[in-house]
Amino acid sequence: MMSHPYAIEPDDTIYTTLNCMNCGVTLIGRRDKKFCDDHCRSLFHNVTSAAHYNLIRKTHTILRKNRRILNLAMSVFQEQHVVPAHWLMQRGFSFQHCTQKIDCKDDSPLLVCYDVAYRWREQGVVQILFWSADSRAA
Ligand SMILES: [Zn+2]
Repeated sequence: MMSHPYAIEPDDTIYTTLNCMNCGVTLIGRRDKKFCDDHCRSLFHNVTSAAHYNLIRKTHTILRKNRRILNLAMSVFQEQHVVPAHWLMQRGFSFQHCTQKIDCKDDSPLLVCYDVAYRWREQGVVQILFWSADSRAA
């Protein structure tokens, strides 16, 4: 059986139903094509890396603020560094952000923020301690 010669296309060429990831125009060409041209490609990557940069910067800002609040709490609550969680929250502390979480066998996990850490002591109360990479989690 003979097929029409024009029906045969090179393997890597199809009329895709995909759209340019930058401008949305329907793409024609290679199966793995993602952009119309280099202009769309570089625009897309610039915007994407700016968005990533913003996300990272925002997270760093929150972590730096957390660290500042933990250090402040240690100087205010000098005895044993036991602090009511609401005191931290009033100052904008984010319990969703930390740099490391260390599970402890016989204690609640340590939540680290760079060189300071805290752990829940009881409902609504945390204990803050200095932390370094070679600190023991015990
Ligand atoms: Zn495009």
